[in-house]
Amino acid sequence: MSRVWVLGAGQLGAMLKHAAQPLGVDLVAVDIEDDSHLNLAAEDMITAEREQWPTTEATDQLAAHSNFVNRDVFGLVADRVTQKQMLDRLQLPTAPWQLVELGQSAKDLHKAYGERVLLKQRSGGFDGRGQLWLQQDLGTSIPEGWHNKVIAEQAIGFDEELSVVGVRNRAGECFFYPLALNHHQEGILAVTIAPLDRVQHLQAKAENMLASIMDDLDYVGVMAMECFRVGDELLINELAPRVHNSGHWTQAGASISQFEYHVRAIADLPLGPAVVKQQSVMVNLIGVDYDRRWLAIPGAEVFWYGKEVRPARKVGHINFALADRNQLISSLQTLKPMLGEWYAGPMDWALQELVP
Ligand code: ATP
Ligand code: MG
Repeated sequence: MSRVWVLGAGQLGAMLKHAAQPLGVDLVAVDIEDDSHLNLAAEDMITAEREQWPTTEATDQLAAHSNFVNRDVFGLVADRVTQKQMLDRLQLPTAPWQLVELGQSAKDLHKAYGERVLLKQRSGGFDGRGQLWLQQDLGTSIPEGWHNKVIAEQAIGFDEELSVVGVRNRAGECFFYPLALNHHQEGILAVTIAPLDRVQHLQAKAENMLASIMDDLDYVGVMAMECFRVGDELLINELAPRVHNSGHWTQAGASISQFEYHVRAIADLPLGPAVVKQQSVMVNLIGVDYDRRWLAIPGAEVFWYGKEVRPARKVGHINFALADRNQLISSLQTLKPMLGEWYAGPMDWALQELVP
């Protein structure tokens, strides 16, 4: 039985473990605060569910192992500066950006990018945390201590947000899921819909972009690329060198989930083409308490992460993958009032997209 170790034991690690089991792969997710000594064998494979980790005995051991797949990619992607520099080098479109250097003021950034400029932490940000909009009319200034720690991005007036999740093996063979349509609320992914006929014409473009990145990095495993759609153009927002929230729908909607693909690639098992089965919708459970009524909704596949519930924290998700469009709509309508006011916008957005 082959063994795969995962740096990080959050929900992604747990779902990787879940996917590894039927493959006969023994997957061990290691908490980043674990400071015990791990019993690693020379032939074991190592991957990560996150881009960064603190130094402990266990994480040092994993990171130093000769089979740590994509070792050099994590640092490169974790820093928005090196990530964007790579995208620039590959001539892939992104929002115009720059590192905010010492001595620069909000005025300089408005001069370069216009009235609204988004400051993003170079590393460690997620779910929109650590970001600040500089608004010229409000005279927002760059907070103290942020110079050299943030990048500035031009505000993109995008039509919508799409992402593509792909996988690559050691031989360079790639597979991609259809583009997913993502709805964010307050910087947090709330709902994903996939596949979607009306964005199909952008599929080849998205695949070529992600393939060129994975090839350049000689990447192995699942990678996600978040994009802004502006007309028929795709601008890359950011990359995730791992399984990604906007790919959770594949657990229900595809014959091979993103988690299984990642394990297959890391363990060097045949990838095979994932077949998309049904129309899927994934609803993130954000800052809500567990509700047993979810389990009674037709088609609902509930994943609860077992984390402490806090506002704006992702604590689970529900997948729906249903061939019957009316059933799908009816199930989402049943779910909507159970989730409360914060979800009214995202749920209406999804319903509007699905109603013929
Ligand atoms: P996560 O890791 O959860 O995907 P994050 O905190 O790393 O998010 P981003 O994905 O960079 O941050 O940004 C979060 C959201 O903010 C985006 O999905 C998008 O809705 C919005 N956003 C980001 N950059 C821009 C931009 N340049 N112009 C307009 N909106 C933006
Ligand atoms: Mg993002």
